[in-house]
Amino acid sequence: MLVDTHCHLDFADFDAERDELVARAHASGVGQMVTISTRVRKLEKLLALTERYPSVFCSVGTHPNNADEELDVTADELVQLAEANAKVVAIGEAGLDYFYDTQKPEDQKTGLRRHIEAARRTQLPLVIHSRSADDDMAAILTEETGKGAFPFILHCFSSGQGLADTGVALGGYVSYSGILTFPKSTELREIAATVPMDRLLVETDAPYLAPKRWRGKRNEPSYVVNTAEVLAEVKGVSYDEIAAITTENAFRCFSKMPRL
Ligand SMILES: [Zn+2]
Ligand SMILES: [Zn+2]
Repeated sequence: MLVDTHCHLDFADFDAERDELVARAHASGVGQMVTISTRVRKLEKLLALTERYPSVFCSVGTHPNNADEELDVTADELVQLAEANAKVVAIGEAGLDYFYDTQKPEDQKTGLRRHIEAARRTQLPLVIHSRSADDDMAAILTEETGKGAFPFILHCFSSGQGLADTGVALGGYVSYSGILTFPKSTELREIAATVPMDRLLVETDAPYLAPKRWRGKRNEPSYVVNTAEVLAEVKGVSYDEIAAITTENAFRCFSKMPRL
């Protein structure tokens, strides 16, 4: 069994065939999925999905590329929403995205720190989106961990060795998406080889970033299998071993999510 720790099942891309997509995930051995929030104000749609599909859980948070839309969301509100809903098992995704130049860095940092506070108070994992922001992210994670530890995931990891090392040293998890399978991702695979086994997760980030076998197609949770295959090669273990280890890690990290 695998857990797709990061997908966006609420996106309109899936409107026509969400039931079939969840069925295909189960048929491929993807037993549980976490659909990740990009806007706190859209949480109702995620909660409706988690009600419809017992194997789907969700997070609550504001994506850094939407930071300015939800600067009024406080850590208190995040904590309250997480505690009020049994299927909310994570905070985020929040973070820093300096690749898409749409949001002021200061707004992104403000949002990130509020999400960190909520993760610290709930001890639910913070799903971190970090793109072209390695130095600032490492500095904030180090500083904030100094105020009190919080669980976190460097999701869709595509940063450098330094941020991977910092994340691991601070107790975080590193989650790999289909990017790991791309021919040009040699450095990313080299970094993955250095991440301790007990910190590895797999995800799709569907509908984006389909892995190599389905490259160019719309991504979906069942495709996480290909990422796990490549991660197994990188770590020199069998597919069954990487499936067992990443699933074990997922339930340790997402401690509120029951194993169905
Ligand atoms: Zn992201
Ligand atoms: Zn995402």
